[in-house]
Amino acid sequence: DIGQFSEKLGYKSFIIGGVVRDIVLGKQSLDIDIIVEGSAIDLIKRYAKENNLTYHVYPEFMTGNIVFPNGLKLDFATARKEEYDSPGSYPKVEKATLFEDLYRRDFTINTLAIEITYSNFGKLIDYFNGLVDIKEKRIRILHTLSFVEDPIRILRALRFAGRLEFKLEKKTESLLKHAVEKDLLNFAPTGRINLELNLTFKEEKVLDILKLMDKYKVLYKLFGITLDKEKEKLLVKLQDNFLILKEILNTDFPTSSNYLYVLLSNYPQEIVYNLLKKYHFEKEAKYIDEFLSAFKIVKESQNKYTLYRILKSFNKEFLPALMSFLDSNKFKGIIDVLKKEKNPLIKGEDLIELGLKPSPEFKTILEDIFVKYLNDQFKNKEEAVSYIK
Ligand code: ATP
Repeated sequence: DIGQFSEKLGYKSFIIGGVVRDIVLGKQSLDIDIIVEGSAIDLIKRYAKENNLTYHVYPEFMTGNIVFPNGLKLDFATARKEEYDSPGSYPKVEKATLFEDLYRRDFTINTLAIEITYSNFGKLIDYFNGLVDIKEKRIRILHTLSFVEDPIRILRALRFAGRLEFKLEKKTESLLKHAVEKDLLNFAPTGRINLELNLTFKEEKVLDILKLMDKYKVLYKLFGITLDKEKEKLLVKLQDNFLILKEILNTDFPTSSNYLYVLLSNYPQEIVYNLLKKYHFEKEAKYIDEFLSAFKIVKESQNKYTLYRILKSFNKEFLPALMSFLDSNKFKGIIDVLKKEKNPLIKGEDLIELGLKPSPEFKTILEDIFVKYLNDQFKNKEEAVSYIK
């Protein structure tokens, strides 16, 4: 009934962007964006007040949202156009029509709109032939200067192409190549590059996207690197490691740091540090030192006990990357340590069951048992118990 409400206020409203693209593709999408020809702020405030809903408005951006009791959040924006002062900078905004609002968008596949104003409810609006491009699996920019206006679109084009298994339309492809060659990514704010890379590393098809970024020399422009077979193998291992470790440790690992440590692994530490800093990967830069020293000790370690000691003090967030570089012996060693650590043969409660009184000595006994377990001296709990006895 937002459509009805909108009509009452004399505004037209449309669902637009990613969600419409995903509906056409038959994919799930969580964010719903609504564009209002009129005033989004006015619509949000009146609708939310009348229905007693929580809302937020950001008048300087002409945007806001309404939160529904079931957790659904609708994002609203007044239809607007943007003026770019310089390539890639944050734009100034001004009220506009839906057409103008859609015209400033990145790719045709993101320009579809569905009207929700009551009298036109469900009407599909396709000013830029987005529907055909979705059917033909093409990423197409809306006008020749698109990449110059906002070079971040270079990264977005490759991210969507990789994610959806789409191809760059011919002219878009040649303009993208030209933009990369002209070094336009260096004109984009590094903070926005950071945001885009973070999104890229979270994509399911990250490897395909990285290959595209390599093919179009984007990795080279950003980091001075190319993807050879060796690097690709490391990245495949990294992806496996995320899954293997999640299964053992039951946690999700940060993606950016792990991918970046692998991607930049041919560089000396100082260069890695500077590149990470350049694109505002502060935490990743801070831990590179720890990562490299842990890596060195792991490589030199002779037995599982040393591995265990290192892993105890090492920030486990970076284990997926670290393990990508190990030979299969070390790799198996770490997996064994993690599994045994998670399921020790003997716990404190077992000692109590054996009739021992809780004491500070417990720790020493448990550690002793654990080290023997690590070194395969005990195969099962019974052997450990008879040792204690
Ligand atoms: P996702 O599925 O990744 O959320 P999305 O299409 O919703 O995809 P967002 O990054 O949330 O993408 O952006 C919302 C909309 O804003 C996009 O559909 C796109 O039209 C527009 N947009 C985002 N970034 C740009 C940009 N750099 N230039 C032009 N339009 C953009």
